[in-house]
Amino acid sequence: MWFGVRTTSRLLASLQFSRAQTSKEILSLTCHSSSSFSPPSSCLSSLHPSIRPSLFSRFLSTPPSPSPLMELKKVLEVLEQFSPLSLAEPWDNVGLLVEPSRPRPISNILLTNDLTEAVMDEAEALTCDLIVSYHPPLFQPIKRLVQRDWKQRLAVRALEGGIAVFSPHTSWDSVRGGVNDWLVAGLGSGQVSVLSQALANAPCRFKLEFKVRNAEDLQPITEQLKKEDSKTTMIHSFNSCEAEGLLASVFCSETALPSAVQTLLQHGVTSQALAILKTEQPPLPGHGQGRLIVLDQPVTVATAVEKMKSHLGLKHLRLALGSRHTLQSTMSRVAVCAGSGASVLKGVSADLYVTGEMSHHEVLDAVASGTSVILSDHSNSERGFLAVVRERLVARLPDSVTVAISKADRDPLEVV
Ligand SMILES: [Zn+2]
Repeated sequence: MWFGVRTTSRLLASLQFSRAQTSKEILSLTCHSSSSFSPPSSCLSSLHPSIRPSLFSRFLSTPPSPSPLMELKKVLEVLEQFSPLSLAEPWDNVGLLVEPSRPRPISNILLTNDLTEAVMDEAEALTCDLIVSYHPPLFQPIKRLVQRDWKQRLAVRALEGGIAVFSPHTSWDSVRGGVNDWLVAGLGSGQVSVLSQALANAPCRFKLEFKVRNAEDLQPITEQLKKEDSKTTMIHSFNSCEAEGLLASVFCSETALPSAVQTLLQHGVTSQALAILKTEQPPLPGHGQGRLIVLDQPVTVATAVEKMKSHLGLKHLRLALGSRHTLQSTMSRVAVCAGSGASVLKGVSADLYVTGEMSHHEVLDAVASGTSVILSDHSNSERGFLAVVRERLVARLPDSVTVAISKADRDPLEVV
């Protein structure tokens, strides 16, 4: 009976998603050359609505081949192609947060900024198999799963309904073409740079330099190091081969460092002859938290407000004018950070900050330093990016998968 109800609901859901599938067909015909980070929105928006159905039917004169079923693992791979989870902040809780015990093909995906109980109602009504919630609904460690806590109720409902939950959060903030690039694009074109540079997550960050007499002495050391770290993150090289012996270098992870040092000491390498260096993590150009734009065409404060209202789809924004600023002051350098941006924006030299929320005192600091501030409320600075994500997913997933944006998801605060 449960499966019977589910099938009926799926049919209804697929009818509701028919528009999404139409868009997907068009995208697949027009956007094959788009790169992994470039949203195909321009391709879709360039088509007049009246043209879309005829184009769709013309190209579908022959029946399409059956779409392959999509496993959760495959969908997660596609999501990771947009933004590797390694780009997330170390304190964050990203990735697959809820995994049902019985795997099932992913047919319906619901995108949301926040997973609330209203959004879960919607997900159940749409018979969703996967919820992609930008903010992680599970963040703090949980010691029980009971009904008196709303986040625990959500986890229980997801598991009971067989719904997987995935959260990308700060990996979407950081990635080139992610939330912050989308947010800064609302102000116009210009030279964009990253405020807090992302660094490569190098597995071997420690270098141990030491000397041995010859290659024979090095061999047992190498064997033991490899034995202790099966991930083969340790490598060595010979930098010189003089009468004094060989200079060897071992690269290892922070986790493997204590045992590596112990191994070297056990093999006669004295602590005086051992140098431990921490290697720099190379920057990842274009990735990181926050963005600074130097606008090609500077705008007034009033124009910046109107542009951001339009970009975010909001009727109201909050504005704090910087000292000596008026609504007609010209804004050239604008720093943005989606969500709660004070920590990233602090100290950044700019005419204007755009973020979701800042505290009273943080706004006072910005104003005193001559920077105006536009606040949208936290999630209003993030939610619009879901439309970009939806287009990217639709273009890359088979027709058997529909992707919807939650209608119940909204910022809890509103101007009244
Ligand atoms: Zn946020």
